[in-house]
Amino acid sequence: MWSKESLFIGGKWVAPATSRVIDVASPSTEEVVGRVPEASAADVDRAVLAARAAFDTGPWPRMTPAERADVLVRVADGLAARADELTQLITSSSGLPITVTQLAHVMMPQFYVRHYADLARTTPLEEYRAGLTGKLHIRQAPVGVVGAIIPWNIPLLATAAKLGAAWAAGCTAVLKPSPETPLDAFVLAEICEAAGMPPGVLNLVPGGAEAGTALVAHPGVDKITFTGSTTTGRAIAEACGRTLTGYALELGGNAAAIVLDDAPIGDVAAGLVQSALAANNGQACIAQSRVLVPRSRAAELTDALAAAAREIRVGDPFDPATMVGPLITSRHRERVSDMVAAGRAEGATVCAGGGVPAGLERGWYFEPTVLAGVDNGMRVAREEIFGPVVTVIEVRDEDEAVAIANDTEYGLSGSVWSADLERAAAVGRRIAAGQIWLNDSFTLDPACPFGGWKNSGNGREGGPECLHEYLQTQTTFRPAERPQS
Ligand code: NAD
Repeated sequence: MWSKESLFIGGKWVAPATSRVIDVASPSTEEVVGRVPEASAADVDRAVLAARAAFDTGPWPRMTPAERADVLVRVADGLAARADELTQLITSSSGLPITVTQLAHVMMPQFYVRHYADLARTTPLEEYRAGLTGKLHIRQAPVGVVGAIIPWNIPLLATAAKLGAAWAAGCTAVLKPSPETPLDAFVLAEICEAAGMPPGVLNLVPGGAEAGTALVAHPGVDKITFTGSTTTGRAIAEACGRTLTGYALELGGNAAAIVLDDAPIGDVAAGLVQSALAANNGQACIAQSRVLVPRSRAAELTDALAAAAREIRVGDPFDPATMVGPLITSRHRERVSDMVAAGRAEGATVCAGGGVPAGLERGWYFEPTVLAGVDNGMRVAREEIFGPVVTVIEVRDEDEAVAIANDTEYGLSGSVWSADLERAAAVGRRIAAGQIWLNDSFTLDPACPFGGWKNSGNGREGGPECLHEYLQTQTTFRPAERPQS
């Protein structure tokens, strides 16, 4: 079994304050595949103090952005060099199919870190501005100590998307991975150490809500960056409000895919199988869970989706042919199953799936499921499902589709499917969400300032917008130059 006994704090591998451990279970075998120390509030305190010292007196914020970029490139190289090990750890702890892990969870984090290294080299952080009263010198300074709280569904990806930018800006960090998937963070810490990152720039404190709460409440933290559920995000925002700590939140979603009347149904079904059912085992904040289709085409699309769902290969995440692996925990599978049952009780029809796949009783598997005849008022349409379940909602016309798409507390993403790209783009502009895809919905890009509207959050990850999450502005008023006497 893969195990670690120390926490990474202040550039050293140190003994944790308590003997508590996190046993990491494989969602496909239910066996323990890893064990790491669980950080207590005392460990979080030590980690924040180390990050504080590294920020207040250490070299990192005082290095040039280009020097920091050199370290980030070495971190990205380290991620590439240890890609197989990271793939193994993420697949075994998350149950995500190995092909998905390789691309989205191991390669994409490298792209993010390299992107921020490029931004560090090219983004001007100082300028002179001619003001009404004289010359202003404006500089962007790092915000300080960043506390990063990470979900289980994108462990290394969220970490790289957040900390790559925070580090590029000159911040130091305390990283709290989720207790379900803490293993890869230990490899990242070793990579940062080997890359010559100064002590205290990364500090690692795996744990659950207790460690997270301690991190958020710590007076030594300047900014919290969080990805996770809207419920937890709200609690974090409330806690940050009390201390006036800054926060960037990436929260839940409940996206609508608007299918226009001219869309080629076969292509739409093939695309939606990925973006609503298969991708990340359906546990994706950008899953297009509500498919809005004109009444005249609903039967055709439902049949195509149901047929495609039945073709999805569900099974062992280490099999390269697997498209959907297990859900993260038994408790989470229960929740997904309850939501499908609630949909059925409220009048929806299960056209494919709906239960545990035959022959996969060990592990927390759930069949790719298509629910038709769904009304947007049903629980299955109102709440984020976070599983391989798609709902089909019939609409009268484009206007009703837009109204239903926006009738949700969330605003993370949406998609429009049409034979006419300009028509699709025009409808996309009417969706109140941070990311819109046309005839697609799963492309990720480190240059995209990814983030939510409404209750899906307030932060941005990727692009220069993310660098600015970790910068704050300082203006120096310069007196007018006096002529030399
Ligand atoms: P979660 O909110 O349960 O947990 C997220 C993290 O917060 C974990 O590390 C957890 O230990 C920690 N935590 C829990 N309670 C806390 C507290 N009171 N204070 C501080 N930290 C606390 O979410 P999850 O189940 O791990 O992740 C799934 C959710 O994440 C979904 O809602 C999904 O949509 C969302 N998500 C959003 C994005 C995005 O970019 N918007 C990306 C991925 C996932």
